[in-house]
Amino acid sequence: MTGTIVNYYFHCKQQCWLFANRINLENNSEDVHVGKVLHELKTEGRKNTEISIENIKVDKIDNTYVTEIKRSDSDMEAVKWQTLFYLKVLKSKGIERKGKIEIVEKKYNNKKINYLELNEELENKLNSILQEIEALLNYKEPPIGQLLPKCKKCAYYEYCFL
Ligand code: SF4
Repeated sequence: MTGTIVNYYFHCKQQCWLFANRINLENNSEDVHVGKVLHELKTEGRKNTEISIENIKVDKIDNTYVTEIKRSDSDMEAVKWQTLFYLKVLKSKGIERKGKIEIVEKKYNNKKINYLELNEELENKLNSILQEIEALLNYKEPPIGQLLPKCKKCAYYEYCFL
């Protein structure tokens, strides 16, 4: 399980299944490339703040916060659970932090920040979500995706609809 898989579960269940089953077309996606460049710019000069623990990699961590950096607030529910997943994994390693989501809207030269904490209620809900994801990933085939506006920007668009 990774934070990206949790994020994709909320964004699109088909995308979640495909990514988790290593059908990875994301290197072909201009949208994903832009996201990676933005990420590199944002962490430039602060590379020591990025950490990897087992299969998770968080954008930034300090003594108080784990920070997830995104370039749009179009899918905040997905980012929220992705960040809570990171908080849960870190907590299981004895590292207790709060969550911070930074939305860096390049075209508006603007930054929005959302804060969150992993309380008992959210952790219980997250555990249920993780069970649902495990069940989804055990399917032999991906669920059928529905063509939605977000699909046009998705790395799997050709796979799903052409
Ligand atoms: S193209 Fe649409 S249905 Fe297919 S994985 Fe992407 S978001 Fe999901």
